[in-house]
Amino acid sequence: MSTRLGVLGWPVGHSRSPRIHNAALAALGLDGWRYQLLPVPPHLFAETVRGLPGSGFVGANVTIPHKRAALALADEASEAAREIGAANTLTFVDGAIAAENTDAPGLIQALPAPAEGMRVLVLGAGGSARAAVWALREAGASEVLVWNRTAQRAKELAGALGAVAVERPQPADLLVNCTSVGLELQPSATRDRPLNQLGLTFDQIAGYPYVVDLVYRSGLTPLLAAARSHGARTVDGLDVLVAQGALSLELWVQRPAPRELMLRAAREPPDD
Ligand code: NAP
Repeated sequence: MSTRLGVLGWPVGHSRSPRIHNAALAALGLDGWRYQLLPVPPHLFAETVRGLPGSGFVGANVTIPHKRAALALADEASEAAREIGAANTLTFVDGAIAAENTDAPGLIQALPAPAEGMRVLVLGAGGSARAAVWALREAGASEVLVWNRTAQRAKELAGALGAVAVERPQPADLLVNCTSVGLELQPSATRDRPLNQLGLTFDQIAGYPYVVDLVYRSGLTPLLAAARSHGARTVDGLDVLVAQGALSLELWVQRPAPRELMLRAAREPPDD
């Protein structure tokens, strides 16, 4: 039986994780290892995960909508996963399930400059915003502001993690988009609309020298296109995806992950 890894999500067909991880496994010479999609609906999540070790799985990534459930079913969890309230990485060892959150350190590794001393604005108050706020506070950001379309969620997140909820986006050293805005439309068609969904105009983007967009897709998101045209240093969602994926892989194989190769695999156009 081969040694198996995978990504649990629903839906998960769009995930680039299999090609990123399979490229890395091949480069590391781990011929018997495979990384696969694991599409699992929420009501089957717990029983599916418990059955994975018996089918040769040593670990799995976890994506929307299962990150909270992954933490809940784990036998042990890292401090980061517990404080964030979500896990994106499960490791199966000796019948036990261990939960980790590599989204947080992955974001910090992918930043265009160290977060220490920075004033940061996080857009969004969902799962990835929670990990981002926690990570940025841990990394020594001087202030973390949170704006969200639904203001109450921003207040709750900020209150729980020591950030400051703001009613409208404000200038900062670093802007991190943790909303799903930017997924659905082409930049050329949308210049204003997605930015306004983020509460920002094109001109206001000039107020951020560093911009990270967690959304990943082929080509620039409207936010990153605007940021670049203002001269900002930018990081896209694939950089962050590879950073967190590399950290997960290192937990499973106990060897350094080939990050550059993983990034190249992530950026290759899809086969179809
Ligand atoms: P989530 O928990 O569902 O949160 C979604 C967030 O987006 C909420 O804050 C929501 O605001 C906001 N939002 C959705 N539609 C909006 C709109 N039209 N206008 C303004 N705000 C809107 O999702 P998540 O897990 O945080 O993920 C967010 C994005 O990050 C997704 O695109 C995901 O693929 C990406 N992501 C990337 C990585 C990576 O490694 N690159 C990792 C994790 C996530 P409300 O509260 O008002 O609904």
